[in-house]
Parts: sequence; structure tokens; C-alpha cells
Amino acid sequence: MAKKVTKIGVLTSGGDAPGMNAAIRAVVRTALYHDVEVYGILRGYSGMVENDMIKMDSKSVSKIIQLGGTVLKTARCKEFYEPEGRAKAYNNLKKHGIDGLVVIGGDGSFKGAQQFSNEFDIPCIGLPGTIDKDIAGTDFTIGFDTAVNTAVEAIDKIRDTMEAHNRLFVVEVMGRDAGYIALHSGMATGAENILIPERKANLPELIQSLSQAEKNKKYVNLIVVTEGDEYGGADGISNYLRLSLPGADIRTAILGHIQRGGSPTANDRIIASRMGYHAVQCLLEGRYNVMVGIVNDEMRYTPLDKAVKAKQSINDEWLQIVEALH
Ligand code: ADP
Repeated sequence: MAKKVTKIGVLTSGGDAPGMNAAIRAVVRTALYHDVEVYGILRGYSGMVENDMIKMDSKSVSKIIQLGGTVLKTARCKEFYEPEGRAKAYNNLKKHGIDGLVVIGGDGSFKGAQQFSNEFDIPCIGLPGTIDKDIAGTDFTIGFDTAVNTAVEAIDKIRDTMEAHNRLFVVEVMGRDAGYIALHSGMATGAENILIPERKANLPELIQSLSQAEKNKKYVNLIVVTEGDEYGGADGISNYLRLSLPGADIRTAILGHIQRGGSPTANDRIIASRMGYHAVQCLLEGRYNVMVGIVNDEMRYTPLDKAVKAKQSINDEWLQIVEALH
């Protein structure tokens, strides 16, 4: 029988994502609802290593559900990769009497949490907070929906000007080595082509179809590409296209960090609230070292070691739809 958690620490780690604040709020309020004390740990694992933690009350998470970023700040913490750093972090948690952790972050943060819970008697619960949606065991990750909507709004604007000038545009979206933002924002904006790292791009075929389009007097073409694309994102692709299509007016746009910011969508606020609530329930019920996800609208608990290994797979049906509708 697992011993009952009496004091919870919550932190946001790695890349920030809109909706992290809604998750923090849900963790804090659920813990307080059960009369469990909760500490906010600042700047991810750095706050654990450097003993930078604050006691949270209900008011400390007032009016943050609609805010992008994270009120607890986030960081990448080198020391946490080392056993000495993690031991320091453990001692600091013990000083405060914290005996359960909720880590809101991406797969790197989960690797850290898994390592930490293997070494010390502090159970960790992971909440998938990443705009990239590159984590298996959940249909949604906190921040993805907002990032896609931000990209869609920006691409719609780019389309207006490209239509006016008969231009070919290559738009680069975030996602590192995961093509979900490209696939979703590309489909939602009617992109003629979507290039994602999960599928090898056939550039000669792309050139041929663009040349054919040009012959048919279809000059306006939108190509959405992921930053981690093998040809070097928007700049790499457009340089390649310019060599083969000297007559085309080719422009690039890199959407960049605007995709990380902004007020979270209703969907991101709701999944963050549900996940945050269930993270605390897990700690109270002894369901330890899992990632809380949502699959088919039901809560799904994936052991952290599995969550860090598995990747979501791209659904071929999506690619067929893009091909048919372009
Ligand atoms: P994300 O969570 O967005 O994927 P990172 O990959 O940068 O972001 O991971 C966030 C932090 O998690 C790192 O800065 C580090 O402190 C911790 N971390 C990541 N991987 C490990 C690991 N293998 N062992 C210990 N800590 C890790």
C-alpha cells in the first residue's frame, strides 16, 4: 500500500505552452480542495535544485486561467541531468516536507521525472504540456490547440497577400521533429503542400507539380513546412525551389515564437483543468509515476517510462485528405 501524499509540489519545465497556467491552477485548487498543501516550484527543476519554492493558496492562482506563458516560469536545468543535482533537489523537497510532484512539460521533463522517481521516494505525475503534441498516450497536449490556432490566423493573413501578388509562399511552423502543427494548420488553411519530418519529402515530385500548376496559371501555392524538416525548414525548401522554378515569386515566413504565446483556447484550458485535477487525484489515490492523458474523452494513465519512449504516429488518412483537397 503506497503511503499517502501530504504535500504536493508543482512545476512547469522545458518549453512553455499556453494552458500551463490553467494546469497549475487546477493542481493548486484540487490539492487545496482535499486539504493538501501545495508548493509552486519556480523555473522548472532549477527551483528544486536551488530551493526556490513558494507556498500556494487559492488566490495565488486567481485570474491566470486565461494567461499564456507560466506564472511559475520555466527553464532547462543542466544540474538535474546529474545525480548530485537531483540529490540536492530531493533534499530541498524534504526540507519543505513535499512528498509528491506534478511536472507539467514535454518528454524531456518526463525523462527527468522518471529518473528522479526511480532514485527517490517521491512519486511524480506528468502532465503533457507541449505545443508540439509529440507525446503518445494522449489525444491532446496542453498548448497544441492554441499553437495551431495561432498558426492558422497568421497563415490566413499570409494567404491574403500571396493571393494579391500571385506568390508562392513557404511558411515554417514549429514542432521540432513532429509534424502535427504543420499538418493541422496546413489542413485548416487549405495548404497546397505540407512537409513534415515523419514523411520523407519528394522534392522532385513537388517541383513537377508546382511547374504544372504554373503552366495551368495557378501561381498561388502555399507550402507549410515543419522547422525540423530535413531540407532546412522554409529557407532550405525555398532555396531549393528557386533553383528549379526561376520564374516563380517565392517568399518565406517563419512564424516562430508567436506560436508559443497568447491566451490559451477554450480547449487547452479545459484539458489542462481536467488533467490538473486528475494529477492530484492520482497522487492521493496512489497511482504513481504516470502521465495523465485524455484518449477518446476518457482519462488515460501511461507509466512515465512508456510515455517517454513512445511517439504519436501520423495518421495516413490525414495525408490522403491533404492530397485530395489541394
Ligand atoms: P521538454 O520537457 O520541453 O521536452 P527538455 O527536453 O529541455 O524540455 O527537458 C526539460 C528539463 O528536464 C531539462 O532541462 C532537464 O532539467 C530535465 N531532463 C531532461 N531529460 C533528462 C534526463 N534524461 N535526466 C534528468 N533530467 C532530464
